[in-house]
Amino acid sequence: MLAAITNASLGDDVYNEDPTVSRLEALAAAMLGKEAAALMPSGTMANLVAMMSHCPRGAEVLVGDETDIYNYEAGGASVLGGLVLHPVKTQPDGRLALADLAQAIRDPNDEQCAPAGLICLENTHNRCGGVVLPLSYLAEVRRFATERGLPVHMDGARVFNAACALDVPVSRVTQYADSVQFCLSKGLSAPIGSMLVGSQAFIKSAKRLRKMLGGGMRQAGIIAAAGVVALEQMVGRLAEDHVHARRLAAGLQEMPGIQLDLSTVQTNIVIFRVTDERFSWQSFLSALKQRGVRMGELGYGRVRAVTHYGISESDVDATLSAVADVLRTGP
Ligand SMILES: *Cc1c(COP(=O)(O)O)cnc(C)c1O
Repeated sequence: MLAAITNASLGDDVYNEDPTVSRLEALAAAMLGKEAAALMPSGTMANLVAMMSHCPRGAEVLVGDETDIYNYEAGGASVLGGLVLHPVKTQPDGRLALADLAQAIRDPNDEQCAPAGLICLENTHNRCGGVVLPLSYLAEVRRFATERGLPVHMDGARVFNAACALDVPVSRVTQYADSVQFCLSKGLSAPIGSMLVGSQAFIKSAKRLRKMLGGGMRQAGIIAAAGVVALEQMVGRLAEDHVHARRLAAGLQEMPGIQLDLSTVQTNIVIFRVTDERFSWQSFLSALKQRGVRMGELGYGRVRAVTHYGISESDVDATLSAVADVLRTGP
């Protein structure tokens, strides 16, 4: 990636003149089976732009209560977009039940209510452990939304992990959404950036909003160059991360004092609970960090570990030894 950045052809992308950005946008659109794409500085901005582009101010965005949009994006849709985030209960497998979505859509003829403007799904679902939404469920949501005249946005920060786990081209997953954002960073290993994809008209409006929010970047080819490498070379190796996550989870699951549901370990995320009563999640993480292993907390005291390009099989085994040592030694 550093070599690609060094050798990138550059231009001013605010004038649509950066050839490397244009190449990345065309590549992303083609891979996801959409008409067009826009490079974004972050997934947060990509989601915000998508919500603002789909919905007029005053509309409601139906979004899972465990999603990144609802929990970790500083309420941007409301603060900057004039939108109401309407939280819908998230099922343990990352789905929003259609009955719950139906209940959340307010009567469009009731003047007291903010009308629904968009349904958002997260795939894979981070806080549910990186679980993959089934294609049959995506098809159901698509039908449900179309019947009600609502667009669907997929926060697909890790949508390539979903496609890898399902062993299908990513376009099979994204066909059910009007727009998708995915992160070039995270599992695809680029230093910066996300892509927003959708129809020609949607991306045209997204690019205006991106400029408005301060995300128009001049010689952004230095970012896009790494993004091209991410899409051309990093997608094919995600399966390795999934194997490593399974190995980590299988090892952890056998340890007394760790509670882990293997059925949620479908991609590159492992979520578990430390039930050994000598530990709080804070003292567990700090004892682990002293042994050179960093994990995080992801709500309700649960611990999250993520595998990626920088983590090898022997790193996984070293992690298992470190956890065993922490549990043996105590806080
Ligand atoms: C990381 C993440 C985002 C936001 O991406 P940033 O580039 O960190 O702003 C959005 N959605 C999900 C599910 C994520 O995991």
